[in-house]
Amino acid sequence: MLYQRSSRLFAEAEQVIPGGVNSPVRAFKAVGGTPVFIKEAKGAYLYDEDGNKLIDYINSWGPMILGHAYEPVVNAVIERAKKGTSFGTPTALETEIAALAVSMVPNIDKIRFVNSGTEACMSAVRLARGYTSREKIIKFAGCYHGHSDSFLIQAGSGAVTFGTPNSPGVTQGTAKDTLLAQYNNLENVKALFAANPDEIAAIIIEPVAGNMGCIPPAEGFLEGLREVCTANGALLIFDEVMTGFRLAKGGAQELFNIKADIVTFGKVIGGGLPVGAFAASGKIMDYLAPSGPVYQAGTLSGNPLAMAAGLEMLKALNSDTKIFERLEEKTAYLEKGIHKILLEEEVSHTINRVGSMISVHFDKKPVTDFATAGNGNNDTFKKFFHGLLDNGVYIAPSAYETWFITDALTYEDLDYTLNAIKKVAGTL
Ligand code: PMP
Repeated sequence: MLYQRSSRLFAEAEQVIPGGVNSPVRAFKAVGGTPVFIKEAKGAYLYDEDGNKLIDYINSWGPMILGHAYEPVVNAVIERAKKGTSFGTPTALETEIAALAVSMVPNIDKIRFVNSGTEACMSAVRLARGYTSREKIIKFAGCYHGHSDSFLIQAGSGAVTFGTPNSPGVTQGTAKDTLLAQYNNLENVKALFAANPDEIAAIIIEPVAGNMGCIPPAEGFLEGLREVCTANGALLIFDEVMTGFRLAKGGAQELFNIKADIVTFGKVIGGGLPVGAFAASGKIMDYLAPSGPVYQAGTLSGNPLAMAAGLEMLKALNSDTKIFERLEEKTAYLEKGIHKILLEEEVSHTINRVGSMISVHFDKKPVTDFATAGNGNNDTFKKFFHGLLDNGVYIAPSAYETWFITDALTYEDLDYTLNAIKKVAGTL
Protein backbone atom coordinates (compact mmCIF):
# COMPACT_ATOMS: atom_id res chain seq x y z
CA MET A 1 0.00 0.00 0.00
CA LEU A 2 1.09 3.55 -0.63
CA TYR A 3 0.87 6.32 1.91
CA GLN A 4 2.31 9.21 -0.08
CA ARG A 5 -0.45 11.68 0.64
CA SER A 6 -0.54 10.74 4.34
CA SER A 7 3.22 11.27 4.53
CA ARG A 8 2.90 14.71 2.97
CA LEU A 9 -0.01 15.66 5.23
CA PHE A 10 1.93 14.49 8.27
CA ALA A 11 4.95 16.60 7.31
CA GLU A 12 2.65 19.62 6.99
CA ALA A 13 0.99 18.84 10.33
CA GLU A 14 4.34 18.59 12.11
CA GLN A 15 5.00 22.21 11.19
CA VAL A 16 2.03 23.52 13.14
CA ILE A 17 0.95 20.78 15.58
CA PRO A 18 3.36 19.27 18.18
CA GLY A 19 4.41 15.86 16.87
CA GLY A 20 1.86 16.35 14.07
CA VAL A 21 -0.99 15.02 16.20
CA ASN A 22 -3.52 16.28 18.72
CA SER A 23 -3.21 13.15 20.87
CA PRO A 24 0.08 11.23 21.16
CA VAL A 25 -1.20 7.68 20.58
CA ARG A 26 -2.16 8.66 17.03
CA ALA A 27 1.49 9.10 16.09
CA PHE A 28 3.31 6.00 14.87
CA LYS A 29 6.32 6.79 17.05
CA ALA A 30 6.32 3.40 18.76
CA VAL A 31 6.03 1.42 15.53
CA GLY A 32 7.82 3.69 13.06
CA GLY A 33 6.47 5.20 9.86
CA THR A 34 3.97 8.02 9.46
CA PRO A 35 0.40 7.94 10.69
CA VAL A 36 -2.37 7.23 8.23
CA PHE A 37 -4.58 10.27 7.60
CA ILE A 38 -8.21 9.26 7.41
CA LYS A 39 -10.57 10.96 5.03
CA GLU A 40 -13.79 9.18 5.81
CA ALA A 41 -15.22 6.06 7.37
CA LYS A 42 -18.31 3.90 7.10
CA GLY A 43 -19.27 0.80 9.12
CA ALA A 44 -16.18 -1.29 9.83
CA TYR A 45 -13.94 0.51 7.35
CA LEU A 46 -11.67 3.53 7.21
CA TYR A 47 -10.74 5.18 3.92
CA ASP A 48 -7.47 7.10 3.98
CA GLU A 49 -6.19 10.08 1.99
CA ASP A 50 -4.34 7.78 -0.43
CA GLY A 51 -7.50 5.85 -1.25
CA ASN A 52 -6.62 2.77 0.86
CA LYS A 53 -9.46 0.88 2.55
CA LEU A 54 -8.68 -0.41 6.04
CA ILE A 55 -10.65 -2.69 8.36
CA ASP A 56 -10.74 -0.77 11.62
CA TYR A 57 -9.92 -2.44 14.95
CA ILE A 58 -9.43 0.82 16.86
CA ASN A 59 -12.80 2.39 16.18
CA SER A 60 -11.84 5.82 17.45
CA TRP A 61 -10.36 4.06 20.51
CA GLY A 62 -13.72 2.61 21.45
CA PRO A 63 -16.74 4.76 20.68
CA MET A 64 -17.71 3.24 17.32
CA ILE A 65 -19.23 0.09 18.75
CA LEU A 66 -21.90 0.10 16.02
CA GLY A 67 -19.54 1.16 13.25
CA HIS A 68 -18.56 4.47 11.68
CA ALA A 69 -21.13 6.98 10.45
CA TYR A 70 -23.91 5.03 12.17
CA GLU A 71 -26.94 6.58 10.56
CA PRO A 72 -29.23 7.29 13.54
CA VAL A 73 -26.36 9.15 15.23
CA VAL A 74 -25.39 11.07 12.09
CA ASN A 75 -28.98 12.07 11.41
CA ALA A 76 -29.59 13.14 15.00
CA VAL A 77 -26.50 15.38 14.93
CA ILE A 78 -27.52 16.96 11.60
CA GLU A 79 -31.07 17.65 12.81
CA ARG A 80 -29.86 19.14 16.11
CA ALA A 81 -27.22 21.28 14.44
CA LYS A 82 -29.90 22.99 12.36
CA LYS A 83 -31.52 24.17 15.61
CA GLY A 84 -28.38 25.67 17.17
CA THR A 85 -25.15 24.12 18.35
CA SER A 86 -24.86 25.38 21.94
CA PHE A 87 -27.03 27.39 24.31
CA GLY A 88 -25.30 27.23 27.69
CA THR A 89 -28.70 26.61 29.26
CA PRO A 90 -30.38 23.39 30.39
CA THR A 91 -32.09 21.37 27.65
CA ALA A 92 -34.68 18.59 27.82
CA LEU A 93 -32.27 16.42 25.85
CA GLU A 94 -29.81 16.32 28.76
CA THR A 95 -32.46 14.92 31.11
CA GLU A 96 -33.49 12.38 28.48
CA ILE A 97 -30.01 10.91 28.04
CA ALA A 98 -29.31 11.12 31.80
CA ALA A 99 -32.49 9.16 32.58
CA LEU A 100 -31.66 6.55 29.95
CA ALA A 101 -28.08 6.13 31.21
CA VAL A 102 -29.30 5.84 34.81
CA SER A 103 -31.81 3.17 33.74
CA MET A 104 -29.13 1.13 31.93
CA VAL A 105 -26.35 1.21 34.54
CA PRO A 106 -26.69 -0.44 37.98
CA ASN A 107 -26.16 1.47 41.24
CA ILE A 108 -26.37 5.01 39.91
CA ASP A 109 -29.08 7.60 40.56
CA LYS A 110 -27.57 10.70 39.01
CA ILE A 111 -25.09 11.42 36.26
CA ARG A 112 -23.24 14.53 35.16
CA PHE A 113 -21.98 15.01 31.61
CA VAL A 114 -18.59 16.47 30.76
CA ASN A 115 -16.53 16.64 27.57
CA SER A 116 -13.96 13.84 27.89
CA GLY A 117 -12.92 10.80 29.88
CA THR A 118 -10.16 12.86 31.45
CA GLU A 119 -12.64 15.37 32.82
CA ALA A 120 -14.89 12.57 34.07
CA CYS A 121 -12.09 10.88 36.05
CA MET A 122 -10.62 14.13 37.32
CA SER A 123 -14.03 15.25 38.56
CA ALA A 124 -14.81 11.85 40.09
CA VAL A 125 -11.64 12.02 42.17
CA ARG A 126 -12.37 15.57 43.32
CA LEU A 127 -15.86 14.47 44.31
CA ALA A 128 -14.47 11.47 46.21
CA ARG A 129 -12.00 13.71 48.02
CA GLY A 130 -14.68 16.25 48.89
CA TYR A 131 -17.11 13.57 50.02
CA THR A 132 -14.65 11.73 52.27
CA SER A 133 -12.59 14.78 53.37
CA ARG A 134 -9.47 12.76 52.55
CA GLU A 135 -6.70 13.56 50.07
CA LYS A 136 -4.98 10.41 48.85
CA ILE A 137 -6.04 8.09 46.07
CA ILE A 138 -4.83 4.68 44.96
CA LYS A 139 -4.28 4.05 41.28
CA PHE A 140 -2.79 1.01 39.57
CA ALA A 141 0.43 1.02 37.56
CA GLY A 142 -0.40 0.83 33.86
CA CYS A 143 -3.96 2.10 34.23
CA TYR A 144 -4.78 5.29 32.36
CA HIS A 145 -7.47 7.65 33.57
CA GLY A 146 -6.79 10.59 31.27
CA HIS A 147 -4.08 13.23 31.38
CA SER A 148 -5.08 15.05 34.56
CA ASP A 149 -2.06 15.57 36.87
CA SER A 150 -3.00 13.04 39.58
CA PHE A 151 -3.17 10.23 37.03
CA LEU A 152 0.14 10.70 35.23
CA ILE A 153 1.91 8.49 37.73
CA GLN A 154 2.92 5.19 36.13
CA ALA A 155 0.23 5.81 33.53
CA GLY A 156 -0.55 3.45 30.68
CA SER A 157 -1.59 4.15 27.09
CA GLY A 158 0.40 6.82 25.21
CA ALA A 159 2.20 7.83 28.41
CA VAL A 160 3.97 4.45 28.61
CA THR A 161 4.18 4.01 24.83
CA PHE A 162 6.34 7.13 24.65
CA GLY A 163 8.37 6.39 27.77
CA THR A 164 6.86 9.03 30.05
CA PRO A 165 4.54 7.22 32.45
CA ASN A 166 5.43 9.93 35.00
CA SER A 167 5.06 13.22 33.16
CA PRO A 168 7.25 16.24 33.81
CA GLY A 169 4.99 19.10 34.82
CA VAL A 170 3.20 17.13 37.53
CA THR A 171 4.28 18.61 40.84
CA GLN A 172 5.65 16.47 43.64
CA GLY A 173 2.87 17.83 45.82
CA THR A 174 0.30 16.29 43.50
CA ALA A 175 2.25 13.09 42.91
CA LYS A 176 2.53 12.33 46.63
CA ASP A 177 -1.23 12.02 46.93
CA THR A 178 -1.40 9.30 44.28
CA LEU A 179 -0.45 5.98 45.83
CA LEU A 180 0.51 3.27 43.43
CA ALA A 181 -0.46 -0.40 43.53
CA GLN A 182 0.07 -3.29 41.12
CA TYR A 183 -2.95 -4.42 39.13
CA ASN A 184 -4.40 -7.72 40.41
CA ASN A 185 -2.44 -7.43 43.67
CA LEU A 186 -4.86 -7.11 46.56
CA GLU A 187 -2.14 -7.45 49.21
CA ASN A 188 -0.49 -4.34 47.79
CA VAL A 189 -3.71 -2.39 48.22
CA LYS A 190 -4.24 -3.64 51.77
CA ALA A 191 -0.68 -2.60 52.67
CA LEU A 192 -1.33 0.92 51.35
CA PHE A 193 -4.46 1.22 53.48
CA ALA A 194 -2.53 -0.03 56.52
CA ALA A 195 0.25 2.52 55.93
CA ASN A 196 -2.16 5.44 55.31
CA PRO A 197 -5.00 4.99 57.82
CA ASP A 198 -8.01 7.30 57.27
CA GLU A 199 -6.18 9.12 54.49
CA ILE A 200 -7.32 7.34 51.34
CA ALA A 201 -10.35 8.89 49.65
CA ALA A 202 -10.71 6.41 46.83
CA ILE A 203 -9.35 3.64 44.68
CA ILE A 204 -9.67 4.36 40.98
CA ILE A 205 -9.39 1.39 38.64
CA GLU A 206 -10.14 0.25 35.12
CA PRO A 207 -12.24 -2.82 36.04
CA VAL A 208 -10.83 -4.41 32.89
CA ALA A 209 -7.52 -2.72 32.15
CA GLY A 210 -7.26 -1.59 28.56
CA ASN A 211 -4.29 0.76 28.56
CA MET A 212 -1.49 -1.77 29.03
CA GLY A 213 -3.05 -4.02 26.45
CA CYS A 214 -6.14 -5.78 27.74
CA ILE A 215 -5.79 -7.24 31.24
CA PRO A 216 -8.75 -8.88 32.94
CA PRO A 217 -9.19 -8.61 36.70
CA ALA A 218 -8.11 -11.81 38.47
CA GLU A 219 -10.79 -13.88 40.17
CA GLY A 220 -11.80 -12.12 43.41
CA PHE A 221 -9.67 -9.00 42.82
CA LEU A 222 -12.50 -6.51 42.25
CA GLU A 223 -14.53 -8.10 45.05
CA GLY A 224 -11.47 -7.66 47.30
CA LEU A 225 -11.19 -3.99 46.39
CA ARG A 226 -14.87 -3.52 47.18
CA GLU A 227 -14.40 -5.04 50.63
CA VAL A 228 -11.25 -3.05 51.39
CA CYS A 229 -12.93 0.22 50.40
CA THR A 230 -16.01 -0.49 52.48
CA ALA A 231 -13.93 -1.53 55.49
CA ASN A 232 -11.83 1.65 55.31
CA GLY A 233 -14.44 4.26 54.42
CA ALA A 234 -12.94 4.86 50.97
CA LEU A 235 -14.87 5.06 47.70
CA LEU A 236 -14.41 2.62 44.84
CA ILE A 237 -14.27 4.41 41.49
CA PHE A 238 -14.72 2.27 38.40
CA ASP A 239 -13.25 4.03 35.39
CA GLU A 240 -15.61 2.62 32.77
CA VAL A 241 -14.48 4.96 30.00
CA MET A 242 -13.61 1.88 27.93
CA THR A 243 -15.84 -0.76 29.48
CA GLY A 244 -19.04 1.30 29.93
CA PHE A 245 -21.79 0.43 27.43
CA ARG A 246 -19.27 -1.96 25.79
CA LEU A 247 -18.93 -5.04 27.98
CA ALA A 248 -22.62 -4.99 28.90
CA LYS A 249 -25.45 -2.47 28.97
CA GLY A 250 -24.48 -1.74 32.57
CA GLY A 251 -20.72 -2.06 31.94
CA ALA A 252 -18.28 -3.86 34.22
CA GLN A 253 -20.49 -3.38 37.29
CA GLU A 254 -23.11 -5.54 35.58
CA LEU A 255 -20.65 -8.01 34.06
CA PHE A 256 -18.88 -8.74 37.35
CA ASN A 257 -21.82 -7.96 39.64
CA ILE A 258 -19.83 -5.51 41.75
CA LYS A 259 -21.07 -2.20 43.04
CA ALA A 260 -18.79 0.77 42.53
CA ASP A 261 -19.39 4.03 44.42
CA ILE A 262 -18.61 6.30 41.47
CA VAL A 263 -18.48 5.31 37.81
CA THR A 264 -16.90 7.28 34.97
CA PHE A 265 -17.75 7.07 31.30
CA GLY A 266 -16.43 8.27 27.95
CA LYS A 267 -16.08 6.86 24.45
CA VAL A 268 -19.31 4.90 23.65
CA ILE A 269 -21.52 7.22 25.72
CA GLY A 270 -20.95 10.06 23.24
CA GLY A 271 -21.48 8.10 20.04
CA GLY A 272 -18.21 9.56 18.71
CA LEU A 273 -18.70 13.14 19.88
CA PRO A 274 -16.64 14.57 22.76
CA VAL A 275 -18.53 13.32 25.82
CA GLY A 276 -17.59 11.98 29.23
CA ALA A 277 -19.74 11.49 32.31
CA PHE A 278 -19.53 10.47 35.94
CA ALA A 279 -22.28 8.99 38.03
CA ALA A 280 -23.06 7.73 41.53
CA SER A 281 -25.82 7.50 44.12
CA GLY A 282 -27.86 10.66 44.71
CA LYS A 283 -26.18 11.06 48.10
CA ILE A 284 -22.72 11.29 46.57
CA MET A 285 -23.70 13.23 43.43
CA ASP A 286 -25.54 15.87 45.47
CA TYR A 287 -22.14 16.83 46.90
CA LEU A 288 -21.55 18.55 43.56
CA ALA A 289 -22.22 22.23 42.89
CA PRO A 290 -24.76 23.73 42.75
CA SER A 291 -26.39 21.28 45.23
CA GLY A 292 -23.22 20.77 47.23
CA PRO A 293 -19.76 22.19 47.87
CA VAL A 294 -17.57 20.32 45.34
CA TYR A 295 -17.12 22.55 42.31
CA GLN A 296 -17.27 21.16 38.79
CA ALA A 297 -18.47 22.88 35.61
CA GLY A 298 -18.21 23.17 31.80
CA THR A 299 -19.29 25.74 29.19
CA LEU A 300 -19.95 23.03 26.61
CA SER A 301 -20.94 20.23 29.01
CA GLY A 302 -24.20 18.63 27.89
CA ASN A 303 -23.74 20.18 24.46
CA PRO A 304 -26.85 19.47 22.35
CA LEU A 305 -24.99 17.87 19.41
CA ALA A 306 -23.01 15.64 21.74
CA MET A 307 -26.12 14.69 23.75
CA ALA A 308 -28.10 13.94 20.57
CA ALA A 309 -25.32 11.62 19.38
CA GLY A 310 -24.99 9.92 22.76
CA LEU A 311 -28.73 9.49 23.14
CA GLU A 312 -29.07 7.70 19.79
CA MET A 313 -26.13 5.47 20.66
CA LEU A 314 -27.53 4.51 24.06
CA LYS A 315 -31.01 3.97 22.62
CA ALA A 316 -29.57 1.60 20.02
CA LEU A 317 -27.62 -0.36 22.64
CA ASN A 318 -30.59 -0.42 25.02
CA SER A 319 -33.05 -1.76 22.45
CA ASP A 320 -30.82 -4.37 20.81
CA THR A 321 -31.04 -7.33 23.16
CA LYS A 322 -28.44 -9.37 21.28
CA ILE A 323 -25.72 -6.76 20.68
CA PHE A 324 -23.38 -7.80 23.49
CA GLU A 325 -23.81 -11.50 22.62
CA ARG A 326 -22.91 -10.78 18.98
CA LEU A 327 -19.85 -8.78 20.02
CA GLU A 328 -18.76 -11.61 22.32
CA GLU A 329 -19.18 -14.19 19.54
CA LYS A 330 -17.33 -12.14 16.93
CA THR A 331 -14.44 -11.35 19.24
CA ALA A 332 -14.22 -14.96 20.48
CA TYR A 333 -14.08 -16.07 16.81
CA LEU A 334 -11.23 -13.67 16.19
CA GLU A 335 -9.40 -14.77 19.34
CA LYS A 336 -9.66 -18.45 18.43
CA GLY A 337 -8.50 -17.78 14.88
CA ILE A 338 -5.49 -15.68 15.91
CA HIS A 339 -4.45 -18.18 18.58
CA LYS A 340 -4.57 -21.06 16.07
CA ILE A 341 -2.50 -19.18 13.49
CA LEU A 342 0.15 -18.01 15.96
CA LEU A 343 0.45 -21.54 17.39
CA GLU A 344 0.87 -23.00 13.90
CA GLU A 345 3.53 -20.42 13.08
CA GLU A 346 5.21 -20.93 16.47
CA VAL A 347 4.95 -17.27 17.49
CA SER A 348 5.14 -16.82 21.29
CA HIS A 349 2.01 -15.02 22.36
CA THR A 350 -0.71 -14.49 24.94
CA ILE A 351 -4.14 -13.26 23.99
CA ASN A 352 -6.16 -11.45 26.65
CA ARG A 353 -9.83 -10.80 26.06
CA VAL A 354 -12.95 -9.69 27.88
CA GLY A 355 -15.99 -9.37 25.61
CA SER A 356 -15.14 -7.08 22.71
CA MET A 357 -11.82 -5.89 24.19
CA ILE A 358 -8.88 -7.98 23.04
CA SER A 359 -5.12 -7.71 22.73
CA VAL A 360 -2.27 -9.88 21.51
CA HIS A 361 0.89 -9.80 23.63
CA PHE A 362 4.02 -11.27 22.05
CA ASP A 363 5.17 -13.19 25.08
CA LYS A 364 3.87 -16.58 26.13
CA LYS A 365 3.77 -15.92 29.87
CA PRO A 366 0.49 -14.67 31.33
CA VAL A 367 0.04 -10.88 31.19
CA THR A 368 -1.61 -9.82 34.44
CA ASP A 369 -0.15 -6.42 35.36
CA PHE A 370 2.06 -3.55 34.17
CA ALA A 371 5.32 -5.46 34.66
CA THR A 372 4.21 -8.50 32.67
CA ALA A 373 2.64 -6.25 30.00
CA GLY A 374 6.15 -4.90 29.40
CA ASN A 375 7.57 -8.37 28.63
CA GLY A 376 6.10 -8.52 25.13
CA ASN A 377 8.49 -8.44 22.19
CA ASN A 378 8.14 -4.98 20.69
CA ASP A 379 10.06 -5.81 17.50
CA THR A 380 7.58 -8.57 16.81
CA PHE A 381 4.74 -6.18 17.51
CA LYS A 382 6.10 -3.59 15.08
CA LYS A 383 6.35 -6.19 12.29
CA PHE A 384 2.88 -7.45 13.12
CA PHE A 385 1.44 -3.94 13.07
CA HIS A 386 3.00 -2.90 9.75
CA GLY A 387 2.29 -6.27 8.14
CA LEU A 388 -1.38 -5.94 9.02
CA LEU A 389 -1.52 -2.32 7.89
CA ASP A 390 -0.01 -3.25 4.53
CA ASN A 391 -2.72 -5.87 4.21
CA GLY A 392 -5.52 -3.41 4.98
CA VAL A 393 -6.03 -4.13 8.69
CA TYR A 394 -5.68 -1.24 11.12
CA ILE A 395 -4.85 -2.04 14.76
CA ALA A 396 -3.59 0.43 17.38
CA PRO A 397 0.03 1.52 16.76
CA SER A 398 1.20 0.42 20.21
CA ALA A 399 1.52 -2.90 22.01
CA TYR A 400 0.01 -1.23 25.09
CA GLU A 401 -3.40 -0.71 23.51
CA THR A 402 -6.52 -2.82 23.25
CA TRP A 403 -8.41 -3.59 20.05
CA PHE A 404 -12.06 -2.52 20.13
CA ILE A 405 -14.39 -4.72 18.12
CA THR A 406 -17.35 -3.17 16.36
CA ASP A 407 -20.62 -4.90 15.56
CA ALA A 408 -20.27 -3.55 12.00
CA LEU A 409 -17.63 -6.26 11.37
CA THR A 410 -18.94 -9.20 9.34
CA TYR A 411 -17.56 -12.72 9.55
CA GLU A 412 -16.12 -12.06 6.08
CA ASP A 413 -14.18 -9.13 7.53
CA LEU A 414 -12.99 -11.35 10.37
CA ASP A 415 -11.88 -14.07 7.92
CA TYR A 416 -10.12 -11.45 5.81
CA THR A 417 -8.33 -10.27 8.96
CA LEU A 418 -7.34 -13.81 9.93
CA ASN A 419 -5.94 -14.38 6.43
CA ALA A 420 -3.91 -11.19 6.76
CA ILE A 421 -2.64 -12.38 10.15
CA LYS A 422 -1.69 -15.73 8.61
CA LYS A 423 0.37 -13.99 5.93
CA VAL A 424 2.07 -11.75 8.48
CA ALA A 425 2.63 -14.46 11.13
CA GLY A 426 4.93 -16.33 8.74
CA THR A 427 7.25 -13.33 8.71
CA LEU A 428 7.46 -12.75 12.48
N1 PMP B 1 -10.00 6.42 31.23
C1 PMP B 1 -9.74 5.40 30.41
C2 PMP B 1 -9.90 3.99 30.93
C3 PMP B 1 -9.33 5.62 29.10
O1 PMP B 1 -9.06 4.59 28.31
C4 PMP B 1 -9.22 6.95 28.64
C5 PMP B 1 -8.80 7.28 27.22
N2 PMP B 1 -8.29 6.30 26.47
C6 PMP B 1 -9.50 7.99 29.53
C7 PMP B 1 -9.90 7.69 30.82
C8 PMP B 1 -9.39 9.43 29.11
O2 PMP B 1 -10.39 9.72 28.21
P1 PMP B 1 -10.21 10.96 27.20
O3 PMP B 1 -9.14 10.56 26.24
O4 PMP B 1 -11.57 11.07 26.57
O5 PMP B 1 -9.87 12.16 27.99
